[in-house]
Amino acid sequence: MKPGDAMALAHRHRRLVEGMLLGACAPVGWSVLCSVHNLWPMATREYAIWLFSYMALGTVAAFGVFSYLIGCNEERFALQSIRDPLTKLYNRRLFQERFEQEFSLAMRQETPLTLVLADLDHFKQVNDIYGHPAGDAVLRQVAIRMQRLVRQGEVAARIGGEEFAILLPGSDSEQGRVLAERLRAAIRSQPMSLPGGAMLPCKVTLGVAGLDVVAATSPEALLSAADAALYTGKCQGRDRVVVQTSGWRSAGTACDLSATWE
Ligand code: GH3
Ligand code: MG
Ligand code: MG
Repeated sequence: MKPGDAMALAHRHRRLVEGMLLGACAPVGWSVLCSVHNLWPMATREYAIWLFSYMALGTVAAFGVFSYLIGCNEERFALQSIRDPLTKLYNRRLFQERFEQEFSLAMRQETPLTLVLADLDHFKQVNDIYGHPAGDAVLRQVAIRMQRLVRQGEVAARIGGEEFAILLPGSDSEQGRVLAERLRAAIRSQPMSLPGGAMLPCKVTLGVAGLDVVAATSPEALLSAADAALYTGKCQGRDRVVVQTSGWRSAGTACDLSATWE
């Protein structure tokens, strides 16, 4: 069982107990009402036993089940709010939140932090030639390959159409480069299967920026550094990993990205 699954189960069970406690208020409330208005004995002993048994078991069970179902739905909504529906990777919102947390932690504790950005090469043409469902299938398979490479504590997210980010707390630029190369190899080594059975080779360009090399004072600065490395990779012909160097300044260079698909 994954940590997320255990937390979800604990949440459902907590809601179940809360519901049962709420249900238990019915017999308690009725007893209080009877005492306050001096309704005892309100009926035959047998009637009272049936009434209290019904309230104690029926109401508690009904509230318990109802709350359990609410707990399940709450988990579903919580998951939907942090996951990208297409790839099931984390979404941009969760990524941004974790990025800010990990950045301040890395700054405070002076630990390494590296960001890898990945952008599929000529992806527009996949949609144009094979259709949007084929593009979606490619995105899902890229996500599966990416997810296989990340370890616990690392964050793989889809932050744009065909753009992905991997946050590596505790890893330096070199470790980020190794992971980026692994991902590049995982994507290019085996073609993606399209709906209908066709196979399509895909490539990716990746930019890496780590706090050990880039003097970033904010998450935005580290993101810009990784983005600039990615852009350099696209300019240099795509299908490569570029690691941001220490002398980086946000000015950047422009290049013609209209190269045709090989
Ligand atoms: P480059 O190598 O320079 O990155 O070229 P590119 O074609 O990958 O980049 P561009 O930004 O021109 O195109 C990105 C395309 O991604 C455009 C859009 O059709 C596609 N896209 C974005 N989101 C989705 C999605 O959710 N599903 C599908 N199928 N395609 C998407
Ligand atoms: Mg893009
Ligand atoms: Mg692209």
